[in-house]
Amino acid sequence: MSKPRVLVIEDEADIRELIRYNLEQEGFKVREAPTGEEGIVDARKKLPDVILLDLMLPGIQGLEVCRRLRSMNETRNTPLIMVTAKDDEADIVAGLEMGADDYLAKPFSTRELVARLRSVLRRGPASEAEPRDAVASVGPLEIDARRHEASIDGSALKLTLAEFKLLQALTDNPGRVFTRAQLIRNITGGDTHIVERNIDVHVRSLRKKLADHGHLIKTVRGVGYKIEEQGAETTG
Ligand code: CA
Repeated sequence: MSKPRVLVIEDEADIRELIRYNLEQEGFKVREAPTGEEGIVDARKKLPDVILLDLMLPGIQGLEVCRRLRSMNETRNTPLIMVTAKDDEADIVAGLEMGADDYLAKPFSTRELVARLRSVLRRGPASEAEPRDAVASVGPLEIDARRHEASIDGSALKLTLAEFKLLQALTDNPGRVFTRAQLIRNITGGDTHIVERNIDVHVRSLRKKLADHGHLIKTVRGVGYKIEEQGAETTG
């Protein structure tokens, strides 16, 4: 397999070089862009396999870079991980809603970075509300989209339609963080008469039905929810 190509958009040269050095050790091919403008041009021309985008940039800000990358055909579906300041929840939510696939809070370890990159590369582009016909599973949890059935440890779960759709979105994308607004769109198909707080109610009910496995659904504080097996991030 050829080396995955990463475009690193980051204005701080020393951080960029450190990331490049570490990623090259891990078998990635790295291109660097010190500004959002250059990053956008490079992404369109070179079509990287994955983009690492720092949100704190001079000139065009990271969120705007993300928005532009998502609005262009060449980069619409390129996996994108944003790099944020710790606890910058509003930016994280905004970025995820603009189509970023994941985020990393500074400071992060190389191990964490590589695990996230591999994870988004494995998942491929985000497929919000796109129905799949295969059976998706995370640990003991299984979702059969065609039959509209969910089971845990082989026994069927009795779910409402909203709960099923919510669980399906999460299970189809293990490790991916969904904002509440994204989950609402998954449930309603864009008709947002559900308020964000209702998502929390659905999640609470789902966790109850998952009983001993309720912990599979993880709360990402201030951002949303994801589903993940314990330690799944670091084993891939
Ligand atoms: Ca920066």
